[in-house]
Amino acid sequence: MKTVILTSCNNSVEAEFIRGNLANEGIESFVSNENYTSLFPNMNGAMGSGIQIFVNEADAERAIKIINGNDWSVHCTSCDSADVNQIVCKNLLKSALILIWSLFISGTSFGNVKAKYHCNACGADFEM
Ligand SMILES: [Zn+2]
Repeated sequence: MKTVILTSCNNSVEAEFIRGNLANEGIESFVSNENYTSLFPNMNGAMGSGIQIFVNEADAERAIKIINGNDWSVHCTSCDSADVNQIVCKNLLKSALILIWSLFISGTSFGNVKAKYHCNACGADFEM
């Protein structure tokens, strides 16, 4: 079965949100680049273009309609503004250790690395 890149996201929260909505409509999808993008969001350009969401070619047209009908952007938890930037993890060493732990020791995913955001409207920092 042929797959196509539906879209790409800047963070795993956004990607999982889109995938959840596709799943609700019965469309299977998978992501590529997720781990790298989550750990090094400032280096997306070096590895392609963020987290890529793939769907079956036959589902692509329907999937595009689903994602275009929604607002996928991250909103501030304090003022609900969409004018937010992802903050590069200040504790990169911790993230790297979690990655290593996840990959080689625990075998679990590392969704526990939360993305941090800064709201340009009210100045709040929050995690998602
Ligand atoms: Zn805000």
